[in-house]
Amino acid sequence: MSETIFSKIIRKEIPAEIVYENEAVLAFKDIRPQAPVHILIIPKIDELETIKDFQKDKHTSILSSLFEAANQIAKDLSISNEGYRLVINCGANGGQEVYHLHMHLLGGRKMNWPPG
Ligand code: 5GP
Repeated sequence: MSETIFSKIIRKEIPAEIVYENEAVLAFKDIRPQAPVHILIIPKIDELETIKDFQKDKHTSILSSLFEAANQIAKDLSISNEGYRLVINCGANGGQEVYHLHMHLLGGRKMNWPPG
């Protein structure tokens, strides 16, 4: 997979407002927030461009880490009890802009359904 802006954020070559980090994932505020809380949670490895590249035998622990981080961040940012939305955009029709797998954590307001 080719490098994206997220690889540079992982290497701390460009700034980001980091809210959570461990050996597997990095989470930071989205530069164009769509809700009062809008966090991007990304795996540190440059291996998955999109969720359709997911393979159970290779990547299950990565997905677990993303969900674990999301729930922890929601608690840390005090939106856990009210609820929140986790989104993974996949490909052109899914609205994916950056081809480094990432999960959006959105909260702090009531989300609309269906999404646009
Ligand atoms: P996607 O549309 O691929 O699911 O989401 C990509 C997200 O990355 C967008 O919400 C966009 O605002 C965010 N984004 C793009 N470039 C940067 C950046 O340089 N820094 C941060 N913090 N977010 C970015």
